[in-house]
Amino acid sequence: MTDIAALNAALDPIAGKRATARIEGDKASIFLDVTGLDEAGRDAMEAEVRGAAEDVPGIATVRIALTSQRTRRLLIAVASGKGGVGKSTVSANLAIGLQALGRRVGLVDADIYGPSQPTLMGVLGSRPTAKDKLLEPVATPYGVPLLSMGQLVAPDQAIAWRGPMAANALGQLIDADWAAQDTLVIDLPPGTGDVQLTMIQKHKPAGAVIVSTPQDLALIDARRAIDLFVKAGVPIIGIVENMAGYICPHCGDISDPFGRGGAEAAAEELGVEFLGRIPLDMAIRTASDAGVPPASGNGVESLAFSGIAQRVLHWIEQGR
Ligand code: ADP
Repeated sequence: MTDIAALNAALDPIAGKRATARIEGDKASIFLDVTGLDEAGRDAMEAEVRGAAEDVPGIATVRIALTSQRTRRLLIAVASGKGGVGKSTVSANLAIGLQALGRRVGLVDADIYGPSQPTLMGVLGSRPTAKDKLLEPVATPYGVPLLSMGQLVAPDQAIAWRGPMAANALGQLIDADWAAQDTLVIDLPPGTGDVQLTMIQKHKPAGAVIVSTPQDLALIDARRAIDLFVKAGVPIIGIVENMAGYICPHCGDISDPFGRGGAEAAAEELGVEFLGRIPLDMAIRTASDAGVPPASGNGVESLAFSGIAQRVLHWIEQGR
């Protein structure tokens, strides 16, 4: 009798998690998930899988059924009115938090002005490969695959991209070979430019998370970002207030250099959910710089992020 392990071992290097095989007597039945592949890619993978299965001793007949996940991937845009408010930090930790709660999450770094996800996710210098014209996301130590504008070009080049180039690059990142990932967290550039418009019009996110500091000025910008999504009919999942309350690394005292509660008050006024508050904490910056997002650990810093991930998951499951 043929060993299913031998068949799986033969298929694994070609199709990985895409193939699910069964053996009855000398017949192999293989379900092949071809989600995201174009026609040529599908044909090539089917032929390779068939060849490999036929070479396994004891198998006389190979049946292959192609399957495709029709359900559209859920896209969650993370946006902010201006840069430096912690949008990338929130995106990375939200992606890891949602993954920990059972979603299969991929992370797209569409911030052409400062693509920092390769650093945050501990894979700086990584380059995605392409198969059948589709980009293959880069694996990260946190189980959340990543594609970043920063992996396509040097950051100082991306900043000079005009609208259509940036829009095209965004399409390549979103329509990549995300395989079984059912949720993409998308770290958008700050503000309300071409990438945001393409994101909204072409890729239709299920909802947007808005990141703001508590300062009034940042909130004016954040309101503009909210407005853009609302006018386009994209639901606002909620607002995250970042850098609220400074935790002194020496004495643990909490002070409020940027004020506190501004984003929560704005959320209430706008009738938008308040997703949570993240303190300004040196430990968050040092962990982020070291490529170890706080949400991946069990430290106190992870708590604020896990609360936000839970509220976003709740929105995914019930609210939308
Ligand atoms: P954005 O994506 O909005 O430009 P980033 O996520 O890159 O912002 O954050 C900007 C800087 O602030 C980074 O150095 C990051 O580590 C730091 N930072 C973000 N949030 C916090 C926080 N809550 N506490 C301490 N530092 C933070």
